[in-house]
Amino acid sequence: MTEKVKNIIDFLTENHYLSEEEYLFLIKNRNEETASYLRQKADEARKRVYGNKIFIRGLIEISNICKNDCYYCGIRSSNKNCDRYKLSEEDILSCCGNGYKLGFRTFVLQGGEGVFSADDISGIVKKIKEKYFDCAVTLSLGEYQKSDYLKMKNAGADRYLLRHETICKEHYEKLHPQNMSYENRLRCLNDLKELKFQVGSGFLVGSPYQSDEIIAKEFKFIEEFSPEMCGIGPFIPQKDTPFKNEKSGTAEETAYYLSIIRLIKPNILLPATTALGTIKEGGRELGILSGANVLMPNLSPENTRKKYALYDNKLATGVESAEQIENLKIQIQNIGYEIISDRGDIKE
Ligand code: SAH
Repeated sequence: MTEKVKNIIDFLTENHYLSEEEYLFLIKNRNEETASYLRQKADEARKRVYGNKIFIRGLIEISNICKNDCYYCGIRSSNKNCDRYKLSEEDILSCCGNGYKLGFRTFVLQGGEGVFSADDISGIVKKIKEKYFDCAVTLSLGEYQKSDYLKMKNAGADRYLLRHETICKEHYEKLHPQNMSYENRLRCLNDLKELKFQVGSGFLVGSPYQSDEIIAKEFKFIEEFSPEMCGIGPFIPQKDTPFKNEKSGTAEETAYYLSIIRLIKPNILLPATTALGTIKEGGRELGILSGANVLMPNLSPENTRKKYALYDNKLATGVESAEQIENLKIQIQNIGYEIISDRGDIKE
């Protein structure tokens, strides 16, 4: 590792920002040695805030019906091979009940768009919060008007995950059809922040047409927007999409970027995503070791899990499933961390 790379990493560790050129330099100088140094710094930064504690979230995939047609996504509207479903309020509450018994204190409701109205969602959130008042509810249901987000907030929703997918408008337009708008995506993120949700943005790693320069801009954006959560995972092709023959992102680059994000914001809630666990055996553990502090096992009903196929071979079995939380705890213990039963809010 050159003196210059080391200095940049040390500066980031101390000051939590870099210039775009420095981020680019770090990205271009990724190798085993720099990754290992960066990982060590990120791990120390995380441990200063959260110790060795790992938060868990129960992920409930409430519908795979979607009006949008994102080129990368397996549940895009024009995919005729997708067997569509929508969970009822009862189904969702029953998932929460199972999750509660397993020790989950955050439920994440994720799904396609144009399925549930803000009133539907608000009703469901209210019921969850009445029954499980010690739990946090995170929504990941895409773009709505600000007045809709307000309804959800007033119903008791705590957090909202909305990856911006890419920070470059030109790139955004290569990943989405014309009727989707980069500006609207960012408008949503700003509205959510103003409404005082704990907000999660994030981007796909290794998506088609992504350049190192764009990734450098991602880090600048995270630095400036300062989201409470950040979801990044490798792009993985799905066989029924226009990107079916594109290359996947790698676990190594994802882990490297997780470390950088941890150093930009030491208290950020940073998941080791299912996509990272899917692309490489041990990917989940690599993510944790690189600075991630959140895991999101699948709590959806058994018979819908396969249908929420965002990308090929998406893990939903083994320790990726909430029922196997005890095995996951052991895996995580084996690498020196501890899963706890807690809402897992951001430490300010
Ligand atoms: N409709 C919601 C939820 C989308 S699914 C929303 O727009 O926020 C959640 C995330 O899955 C997306 O934000 C996207 O980053 C990720 N995803 C979709 N297709 C993917 C693929 N092929 N590979 C990896 N991640 C993918």
